[in-house]
Amino acid sequence: MGDKMKTVIMGAGAMGSLFGGLLTLSGEEVWLTDIWKDHIDTIRSKGLTMEERGKAQTIHVNATTDAASLGKADLVLIFVKTYHTEKAVSDALVLQDENTVFLTLQNGLGNEEAICKQVGRKKVVLGVTGQGATLLGPGHIRHAGWGKTYLGELDGRMTDRVNQIARIFQKAGIETGVSSHIHDLVWEKLFVNAGLNALAAITGLKNGEILDHPETLRLLEALVSETVEVAKRKGIQIETSPIEKVKAVIEATRENRCSMGQDLDRKRRTEIDAINGAVVREAERLGISVPYNQMITHLIKVIEKRF
Ligand code: NAD
Repeated sequence: MGDKMKTVIMGAGAMGSLFGGLLTLSGEEVWLTDIWKDHIDTIRSKGLTMEERGKAQTIHVNATTDAASLGKADLVLIFVKTYHTEKAVSDALVLQDENTVFLTLQNGLGNEEAICKQVGRKKVVLGVTGQGATLLGPGHIRHAGWGKTYLGELDGRMTDRVNQIARIFQKAGIETGVSSHIHDLVWEKLFVNAGLNALAAITGLKNGEILDHPETLRLLEALVSETVEVAKRKGIQIETSPIEKVKAVIEATRENRCSMGQDLDRKRRTEIDAINGAVVREAERLGISVPYNQMITHLIKVIEKRF
């Protein structure tokens, strides 16, 4: 990658539009790509409306439904829901040359493998983000969270390309660090998602309310400890008191309805397969039992079938 980077974002929903909007504002060449025609048409004709701390601004971001029309990209940022990763990456193959980097900041497990399978491990960079966004309608998002973003090479090396991506994110106001242990951070985020999301989704509770009821608190602890056990067995480095850390994150977002909750409320498919479902798959490979994760995965699956 040279000094100038051309970034294509696959999936211009809440998060893709947020990153695309912020990077465009900072002067980067960015293209949003989405299969949702109304949304792309609105961005092309009126711009992207981004609400931030009560103020709205319009950003003129390049957008298309046809990735094949864009030529080659230096950076392809995958921001579809996890169950669309495979298809989005296959649509993005036309964008690659030998130096193209594919970065995922999606939640859960399985994205890395889905991307590597199609483009090879050398081209893939992994990350997690504490940024948050909500899609309000075609061409319209709200910036809802400002947590830190971390990027890392799969083999932990500190490379120029990762530092460069971190620099352009920083310049766009996206606070970003580079980690030599990115898988540990992916699992750390999974502890929160595996403990909270499905539980809050099924019970209809806001994040903080999960801590207020002894019943849901007990279930949260059980889901997280099973997930921590799987991570330990996989050789993931775990900070002390992971359960307390999860509770602190939930307390800090007390008033939020988590994304899986919003999905169920709107009768939409969830990312359960990449979250509790992924914990179950990993546990099966290791020959350990994770009954709480198994049960909550089944419950969400049955609810989804009724949509
Ligand atoms: P979203 O549903 O708002 O956006 C996903 C977009 O991908 C949709 O607009 C959809 O039309 C599009 N899409 C589907 N298939 C496509 C394809 N083949 N090519 C191009 N576009 C395609 O989802 P989101 O909330 O932005 O979440 C994206 C990922 O980021 C998820 O894994 C989520 O867990 C993670 N994440 C979300 C947040 C958040 O606050 N929303 C925060 C951190 C991480």
